Amino acid sequence: MTLVDELPGIASGKGDDFRQLGLRCLADLLLHLPSRYERAQQHACIADLDALVGEHSESPDQASVVGEIASVKPGFGRRSKVEAVLEDDSGQLKMVFFNQPWIQKRLSPGRRVKVSGRPGRFSGQLQLVNPRLEQAPDQPVNAEPERLLPVYAASEALPSSAIRSAIEANLETGAALLQDHLPTPYREQRDLLALDEAYRLIHRPRDVDDVTRARHRLAFDELLLLQLGVMMKRHHRLETLQAPPLPLDDERHQRILSRFPFSLTNAQARVVKEIGEDLTRTMPMNRLLQGDVGSGKTVVALYAMLLAIADGRQAALMAPTEILAEQHHSAMREMLEASRVKIEVLTASCTSKQRRSIEAALAMGKIDLVIGTHALLNESIQFKDLAVVVIDEQHRFGVQQRALLRSRRDEQYQAPHQLVMTATPIPRTLSLTVFGDLDVSTIDERPPGRSPVITRFVPRQDSRRVYEHLADRVGQGQQGFVVVPVIEASDHGLTDVHTHRDELQAGPLKNCRIDVMHGRLEAGERDEIMERFRNREIDVLIATTVIEVGIDIPNATMIVIEHADRFGMAQLHQLRGRVGRGDYQGLCVLVADPVTEEGTQRLEAIASTDDGFRVAEKDLELRGPGELFGARQSGLAPFRVARLPQDLQMLLTARKDAAAWIAADHWLSDPEHALLKRRLLKAHGDALGIGDVG
Ligand code: ADP
Ligand code: MG
Repeated sequence: MTLVDELPGIASGKGDDFRQLGLRCLADLLLHLPSRYERAQQHACIADLDALVGEHSESPDQASVVGEIASVKPGFGRRSKVEAVLEDDSGQLKMVFFNQPWIQKRLSPGRRVKVSGRPGRFSGQLQLVNPRLEQAPDQPVNAEPERLLPVYAASEALPSSAIRSAIEANLETGAALLQDHLPTPYREQRDLLALDEAYRLIHRPRDVDDVTRARHRLAFDELLLLQLGVMMKRHHRLETLQAPPLPLDDERHQRILSRFPFSLTNAQARVVKEIGEDLTRTMPMNRLLQGDVGSGKTVVALYAMLLAIADGRQAALMAPTEILAEQHHSAMREMLEASRVKIEVLTASCTSKQRRSIEAALAMGKIDLVIGTHALLNESIQFKDLAVVVIDEQHRFGVQQRALLRSRRDEQYQAPHQLVMTATPIPRTLSLTVFGDLDVSTIDERPPGRSPVITRFVPRQDSRRVYEHLADRVGQGQQGFVVVPVIEASDHGLTDVHTHRDELQAGPLKNCRIDVMHGRLEAGERDEIMERFRNREIDVLIATTVIEVGIDIPNATMIVIEHADRFGMAQLHQLRGRVGRGDYQGLCVLVADPVTEEGTQRLEAIASTDDGFRVAEKDLELRGPGELFGARQSGLAPFRVARLPQDLQMLLTARKDAAAWIAADHWLSDPEHALLKRRLLKAHGDALGIGDVG
């Protein structure tokens, strides 16, 4: 390996600066991809700008465009916002001006102007926020494209231009050494550039088209490698792991259903059937049950667990919080009251004596169903015969944690069946990547008698009205939640639990019985408060997000969320799912003065739909997949080039091809695939747990 110091194009003494950026050798240089491109020319045409900002949402620093004002939309509301569309022969872009009401006078449609600013992409559309506006130059714009200059992630000591010359000086040598891991016939079939060519073009494109083609090869490559890994893992699971097959007949089916206090919705009945079929097999179930908040996932989980217990085996349910574990425990105990099922709850607040006795009973098979938090993952817990594991609200757990419960058994059947439940649906793009090894069941129907929660977004100055309405509801015998971002008063100017309680108690909620709930209370205290709330001894519960997940109190009909812009979209959707569970119309009020356009958009998106799937897709669009469901905890390396959801089509092709390859060559042992396999395992072997297969 040649050190950077010894490569051409690198000034002596600069080696350390390169190393600081992680550029240690020739290969590192080659793999250091441009973050964007620049044109030497003074102003771009809109179409080129569009292509340059491209899939990447990061923008070139500054760009100028000359065009004609096509339309203007005056803003209204407390925060002045004027939108205009700029047009040239090649396309359109949107301009947004905040807090410059006077600008409208300068934006008369038909006027030619030169605008400068930092282009970005918002909801897929090219836009300039608060651009500088000037008289258009008289000369027509010189549209002659000039060479695109790559711009690289740089440091203070090492500017992009120095990196560019270093890469230029070594590009040929480096590219010539590159071996392509994709077989030529396959590349030709998919119309993919050779690897060396892709690197040449991405670093030294002649035009935008070169960038697109090079990017395509590299992005596809990433997606294909991950899909091959996922498919290989799936094959591994199907081939080598076995779970106890659970017998299921109509009598057993009916007996389980008779425990439930209601009949299943069609959607529940359908997923129960899907799960039941999985459980009769020796192939370990690995299924994701997704269903919006309140769709009734719990009884479906209980069904699966009772099927294990009916066969004399054990089941475990893992919840993300103690409150939720305890809620599941009491609901299930109630449903199983007349049965012989032995059910226990194990959380961190069990005394060590309780804990030891539960552990002993689990090991001897004296407990059929254990419900708990991640305390269940403790090494000291041994099941006698664990057949079904349910993990509720999976987005709180990482993949690593899931693996632990799974590997608990070591007898004939090494793996329990596993059901993961989530109310935060995985957008399709992600379900095809990180979670590509899960089968998915979806509950897409609510239990009868539910109307969608109405959501309103209200500025803080109007919050008094909101609380007066809450007081009215309390007057009618209903209850409510108020969610605030922090427990203690802080200097961030955020509303905290205690101050807010005092203010509401002295003000609009003076006739209500108020209590507080947050994560710093002892579990026992929290239980007691929940119990009093459930028994309607408390009208309004002021809480942090500890109430986020799963709490089920049908008489609570209204939730007010203070500083709603501080919460993520999935979280807000979860929070509002706390209401609208009974006969009354649920109402969720988001109180916020968001300071960014994105913040406003998020709240508007939440207010505009009650459908958790749409919320998740919107979230993905606004924030990118890295932030979402498990992607961060998955331990997988982030993509360097591929972007989701933009590259969905590519992903689908990669997935199809990967499935076919692995079906034909399970472990990629064909010598043709040796290099591919090596690169695949290097990239994903550890994260996917397939490092030692084949
Ligand atoms: P989630 O999917 O959010 O976990 P739950 O399982 O907590 O939803 O169910 C929400 C509420 O709906 C609970 O009170 C539950 O008892 C009730 N429920 C679930 N299924 C039905 C059904 N088929 N008919 C009537 N009520 C139901
Ligand atoms: Mg639930």
